Amino acid sequence: MRIEIVAVGSELVTPDFMDTNSLRLTAGLNDIGLGVAFKTVVGDKDRDLASALRTALARADLVLCMGGLGPTEDDRTRETLARVLRRRLVFRASIREKIRERFRRRGWPMAASNLKQCYVIAGAEVLDNPNGTAPGQWVETRHNRIALLPGPPHEILPMFEKDVLPRLKGLGRGLSARRVIRLTGLGESAMEMRLKPVYARTPSGVTVTTLAVPGDLSIRLTYTGAGPAAAAEARLDELEAAVERAVGPWIYSRDGRGLEEVVGGLLRERGLTIACAESCTGGLIGHRLTEVPGSSDYFLESAVTYSNRAKTKRLGVPAALIERCGAVSAPVARAMALGIRRTSGADIGLAVTGVAGPGGGTARKPVGLVYIAVAGGRGAAVERCSFAGGRSYVKFQSSQKALDLVRKSLRPRPAKAL
Ligand code: AMP
Ligand code: MG
Repeated sequence: MRIEIVAVGSELVTPDFMDTNSLRLTAGLNDIGLGVAFKTVVGDKDRDLASALRTALARADLVLCMGGLGPTEDDRTRETLARVLRRRLVFRASIREKIRERFRRRGWPMAASNLKQCYVIAGAEVLDNPNGTAPGQWVETRHNRIALLPGPPHEILPMFEKDVLPRLKGLGRGLSARRVIRLTGLGESAMEMRLKPVYARTPSGVTVTTLAVPGDLSIRLTYTGAGPAAAAEARLDELEAAVERAVGPWIYSRDGRGLEEVVGGLLRERGLTIACAESCTGGLIGHRLTEVPGSSDYFLESAVTYSNRAKTKRLGVPAALIERCGAVSAPVARAMALGIRRTSGADIGLAVTGVAGPGGGTARKPVGLVYIAVAGGRGAAVERCSFAGGRSYVKFQSSQKALDLVRKSLRPRPAKAL
C-alpha cells in the first residue's frame, strides 16, 4: 500500500514553520508496519492544493491530508478536496450544534465563519474533534482512502490515534519493531564506512537508516513483517551486535535517549551532582540537562561566564591567567571547571570556553577551537577540540562533547578479567 501525507498551509512553505505533524503520523504508521512513500507540503492556494491532491490521489492508495480545515478564508482544504473528488459538500446540523456548544461553554456566540466547518464531503464519515472546532473526515473512493485532518498538533494527533490508526490496522505488513542507536564523536562518512559490513548482512525485513547532524548520529534499525515479536527482537539483537562491532566506541545510547538523558541517568545512579561554567555555549548545556524531567536530582547550576570579568568574579579564575593564556585556553578551562566545582559544591564541575565564530578567530586560535574541562575529586582533565560549522553548530557540538566527556568519566570501568 502506497501512502502519501499532504501537509497544507501557506505558513509551512515559509522559513518560519515546519511540518512536524507528518513525523508523528509516520511514527504511528511505522508502528503498525506501514511506511510512507511520499510527503508533500503545499500552500493554501486553491490551484496548488488541487494539483497536490490530484498527484497524491493518483500515486498513493492512502492519502493523509492535514491542515486548512480552520474557519478562516485561507483554510480551503475541505472545499478543494470536494472539488477534486467531484463530490458535493453537505451541511451537517449536528456539527453546528457541537461547535455551538463549544463556544457556549466559553460564554461566546458561535462565529459565522465557523459555519464552513459544518460541511462534509458527500459520503464521508465524520471524525470527532474533542480538541477543536474542525472535525476530521474519512473518505473512501474506488481507488483511494483519504483522511482529512486538522492542522494543530493537539487536535490531529489524538484524532489520528483514535480514528485513523484503527482503520488502518490489518493493512500493514504486521509487526514492527524499532531500535535507535545513537553515537557521537564520529563523522557521518566515517560511520558509513564502518557500517558497510552491517548493511551487507542486514537480514530480510530489517532496514537500517542513519541520520546525522554534526556531533550526533542515529542508526535506526526497523523490522517489519509477520511472526512473533520475540523473533523480530532477535533479528534486531543480531543486527545491533553487528553495529556494536562496527561503531561500539562511539555509541552513547541504545534506546534512542539523548545524551543529556543518558548523562542524567548516570549521575542519578551514582548519586552525584553536576554544575557547569559555560562560556561559548551560553547556557546550552544547562538547558539541555534541564530538559530532562527530574534533573533537579543532580543538576545544581550553570553559570554563563561569558566575559573575562565573570570568569574571574564568579569562578575565581585569576585575571593574570586569562591575561597570560587567553580566555580560550586549556589552563582557563581547567580553572573554570575547578572554580565552578568549588563554588557550587557539586561533585563534578564542567567547563567550556571557545571561539564560536564567525568573528574572533586568529591563526593560533581559529573559529571552532574549544577547550572543555571536567573536574572531579581527583582534579580536572581538559580536552582541546576543533569543530567545523557555523556558530550554532559549534555551540551544539561543544555541548555534545562536554556531555560525552562527563558520560565517559561516569561509565563503569570494564571488569578486570580474572
Ligand atoms: P490549520 O488547520 O491549517 O488552520 O492549521 C492551524 C495551525 O496548526 C497552524 O497555524 C500551525 O501552527 C499548525 N499546523 C498546521 N499544519 C501543521 C503541520 N503539518 N505540522 C505542524 N503544525 C501544523
Ligand atoms: Mg492553515
